[in-house]
Amino acid sequence: MKAGARLLVPFGTRKLTGVVLRVHDDPVDVPIKDALRLIDPEPVLDDELIALGKWISGYYCAPLGEVLRSMLPLVSDIRSGKVYSLTDAGRDASRQLSIEPQAEDTVNQVIQMLAARSLSAAYIKKKIPLADRILKSLERKGWIAVEEVSRDRDPLRAPSAKLRIALTGAEPQGKMPKAERELLAYLALHPGSHNVGDLEALVYNASQAARSLARKQAVTLTTEPIAIRSAPIRAPHELNTSQRNAFDLIGAAIATQKFCTFLLHGVTGSGKTEVYLNAIDAALASGRGTLMLVPEIALTPAVAGQFYARFGDRVAILHSAFSDAERADQWRRIRAGGASVVVGTRSGAFAPVRNLGLIVVDEEHDSSYKQEETPRYHGRDVAIVRAQAANACVVLGSATPSLESRFNAASGKYTLLEIPERIADRPMPTVQVIDMRQEFLETRKHAIFSRALIGAIRERIENNEQAMILLNRRGFSTFVACRACGERIQCMNCAVTLTYHRRDRRLLCHYCGYAEKIPSVCPKCESEHIHFMGSGSERVEDELHGEFPEAKIARLDRDTVAGKRQFEDILQNFRERNFDILVGTQMIAKGHDIPNVTLVGVVSADVGIGMPDFRAAERTFQILTQVAGRAGRGDLPGMVYMQTINPDHYAIRFAAQQDYAGFFEKELQFRRFMKYPPFAAMANVLIRAAKQEDALRMSTELGHHITPAPENMRIMGPAEAPVPRLKAEYRYQLLIKSGSRKDLNALLRKAQEFARAQRWSATALVIDVDPLTLL
Ligand code: ADP
Ligand code: ZN
Ligand code: ZN
Repeated sequence: MKAGARLLVPFGTRKLTGVVLRVHDDPVDVPIKDALRLIDPEPVLDDELIALGKWISGYYCAPLGEVLRSMLPLVSDIRSGKVYSLTDAGRDASRQLSIEPQAEDTVNQVIQMLAARSLSAAYIKKKIPLADRILKSLERKGWIAVEEVSRDRDPLRAPSAKLRIALTGAEPQGKMPKAERELLAYLALHPGSHNVGDLEALVYNASQAARSLARKQAVTLTTEPIAIRSAPIRAPHELNTSQRNAFDLIGAAIATQKFCTFLLHGVTGSGKTEVYLNAIDAALASGRGTLMLVPEIALTPAVAGQFYARFGDRVAILHSAFSDAERADQWRRIRAGGASVVVGTRSGAFAPVRNLGLIVVDEEHDSSYKQEETPRYHGRDVAIVRAQAANACVVLGSATPSLESRFNAASGKYTLLEIPERIADRPMPTVQVIDMRQEFLETRKHAIFSRALIGAIRERIENNEQAMILLNRRGFSTFVACRACGERIQCMNCAVTLTYHRRDRRLLCHYCGYAEKIPSVCPKCESEHIHFMGSGSERVEDELHGEFPEAKIARLDRDTVAGKRQFEDILQNFRERNFDILVGTQMIAKGHDIPNVTLVGVVSADVGIGMPDFRAAERTFQILTQVAGRAGRGDLPGMVYMQTINPDHYAIRFAAQQDYAGFFEKELQFRRFMKYPPFAAMANVLIRAAKQEDALRMSTELGHHITPAPENMRIMGPAEAPVPRLKAEYRYQLLIKSGSRKDLNALLRKAQEFARAQRWSATALVIDVDPLTLL
């Protein structure tokens, strides 16, 4: 047995998966139990990764077990292995409850479900989103028993068949078992093809239902793995002078085999990718492995294809659109040394690359690098720590670097490499800011589009050029309000308004997924004067159809894209000019290189600016600069229209001028004055409870416990979180700014110990170190 291998161990009445940390025979003073069995003959985590896990656990104040779990390629492999069944006591209780069934009572619902048969945790949670707490309390009462399912299908060891399922469109006749109906409903709601193994967790008995439906010809089953759309194969570009200058320094650093970090700050369209590819070449040539991290949304098959075209079968892609089994295949290949160019998203930072020599983090400012659940690590920062231990070189790239990274470059911690101009002397796009207050004064109409933007779109359509239109807000109307009493319709579980989605004919909560029908009268005063206010991307598409009936329009947001493949389909179709206009949320802003786009319209540059979050300006600047950067990347110059009612806001002004340096300086002043990062280390401590008075009391007690803080620290709060209620829990927060990371860490530990001593539930205290958002 070796450190880093997984073990099945007894834990109360359950069997859990553990990871061996150390093999020793030192005397210990705790009771010892025998492990049930060794899962991996060879370790799944090497010493380097275990050390990285310990660092993450310490820095982010996250339990080591949770950290190791997210480092393994298959979260579900360990997490969803639970099956619940009713105990005898539970059965008695269920009989009593069924005498007086209350359909609304979710506890009862869970029990009735389990009375019929044992069910997986994932299945129950899909039916009842808030089941977690209920299951826990039932377990405590002794009404249900938990069992770890057999590990025979552990994809890390034996890959299951790569079966993919898709609807044929034929309606099967006759009565169908429930599992088949559910599977059909799921497929109808999530178009495209799916891995059957993945559906197992969502639809009870999915495999069996799939086979039966295939016999009825309602679905097709194929064994093909996901197709990587091959990019047009092209020879590497000859680097221009700026690219070469940047690459020369990186190449030299790789040759020294010493740790160092570069920040490659190149404007949009400056050809950063070509620099990365050359750096990877250089690392491979010196016999070392490479890792490239890209934002969640950017890892499209087209990007993957580009890597295959250049590096052939040395490439491994860790793509979330792959099934668990497919990902496990890639992971095993990497560990065995069969792939030396690994491309992945955030968790790719843990890929078992051999002899690591280079890590590239593309679009390093992107918020998808931060995990928004425990462990709340930042993939970029973890990559840097990992590279340091491996004596590897790091290249962070962006056109809009995060304040932190640019600050580190200014202070000499990172080496700054700049590419200030676009490839082939292409001009930066021309940006025109349109003051929508002025537009209203002149037209007396509350229109979504200014006359200038409409004119510009018309011109593009006539010239056979393409346009992208951004509104970073999905749905049709952003909220629904009653004109009579002022009531805004809110989510049942969260303190946020529901968004109207016209295609689904529903009001949806964007935080918890709760949905309800559109009321015909106000739920509070029963008035019929219900109004739909504000607009989202769905509405933008709709209005464009009205304005340009002849144009072909596509929309890219989380409502039109259920899986990675649809995302890629829409983009590919747009690239092939099957659409004239692409409407979307921030999804359209990131990285895409589509030469025929000569116009970018921003419907409202103001979205996000008023958020109670110290990064609101930075995020606004980034998204506006990035989306503007989509225009004019080919031979034709680009034009950008930014509509706003805050034309003087510095984030909008500097984005319009594409002036990163100006923005950086101004924002840095604000951060320095307010002692926000990068001038202080920061943590957000969130306290959650089902009852408001509990959340308030707990946060007050915790606040008392950790104050007074040392001199160099400031504790703000406790105060209601900006979203005071979320997923049926009340939330209070303490914000901590500290001049010293060490002191901050010590204070957070003190908070954790307090929660433990007070026997708070495990989910009541959330610690977010280096938070990206305070919402
Ligand atoms: P960035 O990521 O910096 O916005 P990309 O890496 O997407 O820019 O490059 C923009 C475009 O320029 C791409 O189409 C790329 O193929 C092209 N390109 C990159 N380097 C060169 C070069 N040296 N000569 C010609 N074209 C190049
Ligand atoms: Zn009302
Ligand atoms: Zn909600």
